[in-house]
Amino acid sequence: MAPETPEEVASALVEAGRQSRKVVVFSTGHGIPPIGDTSDRVLLDMSAFDKVEIDPLARTARIGGATQWMELISAANEHGLTAPFGSAATVGVTGYMMGGGVGFMSRHLGLGSSAIRSAELVTPDGRIRRIDAGSDPDLFWALRGGGGGFGVITELEIELTPVPRMAGGVLGWGIEDAERVLGAWSEWTRRIDDDVTSAVRFMHPPEGPALTVVVVTAPRAAEELAAILKPLTDLKPMLNTVRDTDPEAFLREYTDPEIDPAEPPHAFEHVLLDRLPPEAVQLTAEFAQPVTGCGAMMVEIRHMGGALGRPAPGGGASDRIDGEYLFFVVGFPDVAETMNHAVDVLSDFGRGRTYFNFMPRRTGRETAYGQEAIARLADLYEAVDPEGLIDHPHPISRTASVADETATTQVLAILHG
Ligand SMILES: Cc1cc2nc3c(=O)[nH]c(=O)nc-3n(C[C@H](O)[C@H](O)[C@H](O)COP(=O)(O)OP(=O)(O)OC[C@H]3O[C@@H](n4cnc5c(N)ncnc54)[C@H](O)[C@@H]3O)c2cc1C
Repeated sequence: MAPETPEEVASALVEAGRQSRKVVVFSTGHGIPPIGDTSDRVLLDMSAFDKVEIDPLARTARIGGATQWMELISAANEHGLTAPFGSAATVGVTGYMMGGGVGFMSRHLGLGSSAIRSAELVTPDGRIRRIDAGSDPDLFWALRGGGGGFGVITELEIELTPVPRMAGGVLGWGIEDAERVLGAWSEWTRRIDDDVTSAVRFMHPPEGPALTVVVVTAPRAAEELAAILKPLTDLKPMLNTVRDTDPEAFLREYTDPEIDPAEPPHAFEHVLLDRLPPEAVQLTAEFAQPVTGCGAMMVEIRHMGGALGRPAPGGGASDRIDGEYLFFVVGFPDVAETMNHAVDVLSDFGRGRTYFNFMPRRTGRETAYGQEAIARLADLYEAVDPEGLIDHPHPISRTASVADETATTQVLAILHG
C-alpha cells in the first residue's frame, strides 16, 4: 500500500487496526531486513512523501517522511546550509533521525535527531497531529532519537546549519599498515578539535587489494585541515584526496555503496568503546586482515565525542552518544559468527553500550538507552499504540512480540521490483 496524503495514511492505519493486522512502515527499505517475516502485515510504502522545501531565512527544511539524504543535502547546499547527514546518500532522513543519526560531520553538527524541530505524525488511532516541543513535549522527546514506531511521519521540520566552508576527503594505505595507521589515528583523535569528524575503515572490496582508509571532514579550509592531519600524512598515505569541498559534493563522492538486492542481506554488528588503547588497536588490526581476520567486508571505527558527546539543547530520547568510538563490522551472513566474536572481544574496551541505528537484529533496546529512557519510551508506546499496531525492527512495547531473527527479502523485493 502506497499512500500519497496524510489522510490516506490515516485511513490505512484505521483499516489495518480494524483487521487486527500489524503495519510495517518503510521509506527506502534500508532498515527493513531486521523486521523479520512480513507476510501477515500491511506494508506501508511511504516513498511518495519525498518533498523538500528550504526556508533559507529561517534556516529550516520541510521534508517528506521518505525524503532521502541526497535530496535534502543538495537542496540545502544551494543556500550554503546543511543538516547532520549520514554516510549513505539514499538512506531516508526520517528513518535515520528516528534512531539518532551519526554521520560524516557529526562531531561538528551533532546527532541527526537533534535537528528535528517539529513533525507531522499520523498516530495509530488515525489522528494527524503536529508535534513540537510546545504541543506535546513527551512525543517530541521520543521522536528525537527514540527509535520510531509511534506512528507514521508524513513531514519533518529540520533545523539547518550554515557551512560557509568545508574540507574533507580520504587518506589511504595498504591493509598491511592497519595497526600503524590505527595507532596513530587513535593518538590523534585524543588531541584534535571538536569540529573534526573522522573514521578509520579497513575495506575489502570485491576486486583489488584491501585498504586502510581514513575518512575525514571539518568545517574549515583545506589548508587548515591539512595542517591538522599532519601526524597522519607523515605516515605517507598512497592516496590523499583531502580538499575544499561542500556537503553535497562530499556525500556524492563518498556515499556508501548501494545495497545489491541480488545479494543476501548483509550481517552487521557494532559496539561503542570508551577507549582505544594499543591493545585494542592491535586486536582491531588483526580482525581487519584478509584471510586471518574476522572475514568482514569492512571493519570501521568512527570517532564519537565533540557535539555527539554533549547533551543536545532541547533534549531527546537520544541526545548524545555515550562512547568515544564506535566499532562496526559488516559482511556476508556466513561470517556473522566471526564478526560477532570480534565485537565481543572489542566490547572489553567499553561498557557494552550500543547505538540504535546500527542494531542488527530484532533485539530489544536495553543497551542503546538508559533505564529511565526505556521506561519513558515504553509508557509512551502504551499510550500512543496500545494495540501494538506499528511493527518495528526493535520493539519496546509490552504488547509487541519480539519474534524471529530471520531477515526477510520480501520488502526489498517489492522495492526493487
Ligand atoms: C548503507 C547504509 C548506510 C547507513 N549509514 C548510516 C550512518 O552513517 N549513520 C546512521 O546513523 N545510520 C546509518 N544507517 C542506518 C539507517 O539510518 C537506518 O537503517 C534507518 O532506519 C534507515 O531508514 P530508511 O528510512 O532509509 O529505511 P526504511 O527501511 O525505509 O525504514 C526503517 C525504519 O524507519 C522507520 N521509518 C522510516 N520512514 C518512516 C516514516 N515516514 N514514518 C515513521 N517511521 C518511519 C520505520 O520504523 C522503519 O522500519 C545506514 C544504513 C544503511 C543500509
